[in-house]
Amino acid sequence: MSPTRTRARRYLAAAALLLITPVIASAQTFPTEDAVIKRLWSLGMDSSRVQQLAQSLLDSVGPRLSGSPLQKNANDWVVQEYTKWGITARNEQVGTWRGWRRGHSHIDLRTPRVRSLEGTMLAYSPGTGGKTIEAPAIVLPRFADTSEFVRWLPQARGKLVLVSAPMPTCRPVENWTANAEPAVKARMDSLRSAIQREWSGQNVRGTGHSLALGSGSLGVRLEQAGVAGVITSRPKDAWGSIDVFETYNTKAPAVALSCEDYGLVFRLAENNQSPTLRLDLDADLLGEQPIFNTIGMIRGSEKPDEYVVLSAHFDSWDGGSGATDNGTGTLTMMEAMRILKLAYPNPKRTILVGHWTAEEKGLVGSRAFTEDNPKMLEGIQAVFNQDNGTGRIVRVGGGGMVNSPKHINAWMAKMPAEFTRQMTFGGPGSPSGGGSDDASFACHGVPAFGLGAHGWNYGQYTWHTNRDTYDKVVFDELKGNATIAAMFAYLASEDPEKVSRERVDLAARASAGGAGGPPGAMTWPACQAAPRKTNPRLR
Ligand SMILES: [Zn+2]
Repeated sequence: MSPTRTRARRYLAAAALLLITPVIASAQTFPTEDAVIKRLWSLGMDSSRVQQLAQSLLDSVGPRLSGSPLQKNANDWVVQEYTKWGITARNEQVGTWRGWRRGHSHIDLRTPRVRSLEGTMLAYSPGTGGKTIEAPAIVLPRFADTSEFVRWLPQARGKLVLVSAPMPTCRPVENWTANAEPAVKARMDSLRSAIQREWSGQNVRGTGHSLALGSGSLGVRLEQAGVAGVITSRPKDAWGSIDVFETYNTKAPAVALSCEDYGLVFRLAENNQSPTLRLDLDADLLGEQPIFNTIGMIRGSEKPDEYVVLSAHFDSWDGGSGATDNGTGTLTMMEAMRILKLAYPNPKRTILVGHWTAEEKGLVGSRAFTEDNPKMLEGIQAVFNQDNGTGRIVRVGGGGMVNSPKHINAWMAKMPAEFTRQMTFGGPGSPSGGGSDDASFACHGVPAFGLGAHGWNYGQYTWHTNRDTYDKVVFDELKGNATIAAMFAYLASEDPEKVSRERVDLAARASAGGAGGPPGAMTWPACQAAPRKTNPRLR
């Protein structure tokens, strides 16, 4: 055998070893002989359905904007899946929200040259009524005061008004840090923040109006003045990602353009090069429409009136398909229910899953649920909520409960090391996630534990953006998360003791320097009434 061949063989042997190694490394390490834990692992890790479910939900059903027909389709899809798995599920109406159907958005630059622009309607935007409209684009001027703005308004009639900050660069900060001379980078930083200041807040360009969550009260005022449309752009500090929120306009369409294309139109207008845009936008404003939570349940056999709640909001913004906000939380809880039904069909306590509507509108669905089920709240053993993207669960919040270490540590001690070595328990006073549906329970003193995911540039790229799509989901981490959620639900259900409702003394903790969590990191969320119909948040 030639030396070359021997080397080749050795190489192949080494390659084969490399192929085998990850399998050995991911082999489960069970701390106990608990058969249910073992079965949950094998179902969740070896025959996971998360990828198929994600493909159906994110690609076919699509985004789940509150009040849209797609959200109702999604509610029905979840009920159908649960029914197939033998899990009782139903849609519960919590109120109404302004209904809207998103059709196509075609936005073209017509003069001084032709280019199809990357952009889409803001949610709830009126369309162009089956026609195309063509109009000049103008820049919102800088006004000395609001009366100057009002005097200017007649000039905006029939125009498309550019109302967002023109970003001086569409390169993310990290790209400038990596490439620019420090002084050049510093100049860009100050230019960028000056421009952002000028075009944000309650008094955009001296108009006395804001662009809150999309086109805001400024969009509405421009509509009253008879503009042809409102052009916005809200880029993230990331290549290609823009936020796509909402408008309260009902006649003049409001669209969001990419950072690059908004900048193009803005520079043309600013330099008197007469940009004209053509809009072909298809949408229907449907009036107030019913909105629903989807609730699934595996009835408890010993303590049916005590509950373990798996929780994740189901609605999304609709610039993408709501993959990581909160498709992944949704799929985590659905898959957890699927494998629980197989491995633990007769739980001691009732296992309930809540797919909440209108979280993005102010925790509407989960607040309504807690208001409507006061009796059930008393029986809740624990809520596990997930709402921060696709990453593996790395943090478990203590929800401010004095006894949370006792229970969470006991539960984690029974989970495979592959999971527990990635997770940190934040201590009793650690924030439980904040700003998500766990707050709707925590405000009533119910133990609500946030399952915090590893970042994967969530805030920078996918959160609320046009880039929040199927391809961003990290399936290996998602299947682990579903298995972890199922294990928590099982262990909390079996726990001989109910988690007590004694809360951490925040004042004492803060003055003592924050034992159990960073001082001042947590305040008790206050319960607020759920708005039961569209609640415009114009500011
Ligand atoms: Zn969310």
